[in-house]
Amino acid sequence: RPFRVALIGRPNVGKSTLFNRLTGTAKGRWTGGTAIVTPIPGTTRDRKTGPCSYAGISMVVTDTGGLVEEDEVRIEDEAGDVEGEEVEDMDPRGLVRERVRAQRKQIQELINAQVAQAVKESDAVLFLVDARAGVGPGEAHVAGWLHKVGASGKTILVANKVEGGVSSDMQTAVYDAYAFGLGDPVAISAAHNEGISELATLLVEKA
Ligand code: GDP
Ligand code: MG
Repeated sequence: RPFRVALIGRPNVGKSTLFNRLTGTAKGRWTGGTAIVTPIPGTTRDRKTGPCSYAGISMVVTDTGGLVEEDEVRIEDEAGDVEGEEVEDMDPRGLVRERVRAQRKQIQELINAQVAQAVKESDAVLFLVDARAGVGPGEAHVAGWLHKVGASGKTILVANKVEGGVSSDMQTAVYDAYAFGLGDPVAISAAHNEGISELATLLVEKA
């Protein structure tokens, strides 16, 4: 059975870019398909799987959709918050907004369930954070959830977008990430192919 690795993290941190980077070096049959990399958060809504081979170790990598806290799922609502209003009092635009809101929430619940499944089925988890954007309550929430489900031991914390080394701004993010109790973050740049072999080495050490 190959060693299974799940890529998780909030939208836009570079999971799909790292997935393409790791599986691009694969020797073996392609089982997934290229993950779509976009600046639009939430593009990867299903799980995507591909093979990766490093130092003679065969791995199966799974890309996932971005983890978002439930109460973050909301749509632009210029007309103000419609929540709590009686349905019969709503104008048609309010009803449409409410319908879109409900659908987004459903989609996000599906993504969160898929991520939970991927973590459960994996031997190692790469929890990516964006060192440029910094880490906040959203990342802390994911970290807390990893501890809660007993997955912290198989998690490697990865600080992405650190091309050219850690700047002083990024240093703050790295310290904040360290406080998650998931060990020292591994600095990489998925887009610029930096730190990837160091990360792969850490991964195969877990295999
Ligand atoms: P995902 O939502 O976590 O799957 O993130 P994507 O892989 O789709 O990437 C989101 C955005 O971040 C895209 O615009 C990527 O080009 C960009 N990105 C990914 N990795 C890096 C990196 O190492 N450095 C920088 N500067 N940008 C990156
Ligand atoms: Mg993605």
